[in-house]
Amino acid sequence: MRLTGVVERTIPLSRYADPTLPSGDLTTSVVAVTTDVVRDGARVTGYGFASVGRYGQGRLLRERFVPRLLGASDADLRDDAGTNLDPFRAWHVVMRGEKPGGHGERCVAVGALDMALWDAASKIAELPLYRFLAERVPTARPQERVPAYAGGGYPYPADDATRLAEEMRSFREAGYAFAKMKIGAASHDADLRRVAIALEAMGDGERLAVDAMNAYDAVSAPAMAARLAPLGLRWFEDVCDPHDFATQALVAQTYPGALAAGEALFSATEAALLFRYGGLRAGRDVLLFDPAHCYGIPGYVQILDAAERCGWSRAAFWPHGGHLFGLHVAAAFGLGGCEVNPLAFAPFGGLGDGAELRDGCATPPEAPGIGFETKAALHALLRELAV
Ligand code: MG
Repeated sequence: MRLTGVVERTIPLSRYADPTLPSGDLTTSVVAVTTDVVRDGARVTGYGFASVGRYGQGRLLRERFVPRLLGASDADLRDDAGTNLDPFRAWHVVMRGEKPGGHGERCVAVGALDMALWDAASKIAELPLYRFLAERVPTARPQERVPAYAGGGYPYPADDATRLAEEMRSFREAGYAFAKMKIGAASHDADLRRVAIALEAMGDGERLAVDAMNAYDAVSAPAMAARLAPLGLRWFEDVCDPHDFATQALVAQTYPGALAAGEALFSATEAALLFRYGGLRAGRDVLLFDPAHCYGIPGYVQILDAAERCGWSRAAFWPHGGHLFGLHVAAAFGLGGCEVNPLAFAPFGGLGDGAELRDGCATPPEAPGIGFETKAALHALLRELAV
């Protein structure tokens, strides 16, 4: 087993099903890792991307992390049998020389590369990623059915009320256990009017979560929490700046429902700070760490370990991202559930083409690897990238 090439491309990404709507010039990095191993008559290529919401990482990958990987000896990247990649060993190669702290964008770059390495390794093993993880990671706790909710509900620049209601209804009809919408960018009154529209479409508060996208401060966060509390929502997410543990704790003192946090924290050390100072309540609140943004699976496993040491259960973890990689991670580690983006962030978001939910649960594709190939539009994009 030998790596023969790694390619990165930064591409635009939209929060809307209609990519012509403005989306903050969002991008992501797509990565292809090619090996000399042949399966079904072709060289195995692993694909990854930088998840959603944090922009592409082209220069970091091309100037720093990819050269380290390609400069490593084959022995540093292989498993003990020498027949497959060992993504944990490859991760240590990629992280060589990196100092603790200052995660910046580097955690996202490493996560994108790590995703492609896991895709390649599980394809070589001819297993879907979640089954491969179950074999390779001692702390895995595999489950086939993963509770899934639909992420979306971004404000539309025109006809917002009508389109929001349509979107939420489509999620409900598709069978998602619940849906999540965005708040935080408008006034509290305007956001609460949108929440009322989504609530009507979803039926009740348990079927709707809200995501404030880290918008509130020490004054506005508790004020909005007090107004949301009577609605009995599924959860109140990204209440304040990810490092403003004081405001997070202030809200946790009074908000009776579940809070969700951790999407923009990227290491086990940061997670431990959240557990210690964020006032969150194990058994009630929700942890959103994105495995692709947290230095990939090795970093995510460290966060799971840190959480369990602090009394958190796996059921609290609902990884951010809304794509098949997150679904595999939730299935492999026995997490509470995962986000699915049925409309946003095409062609990465959502389940495999034609895949359906059962009782609000999703199952990862049984194709080898992550199964990006089960999504025709995504497969077409990735195939173009492969070397
Ligand atoms: Mg969020």
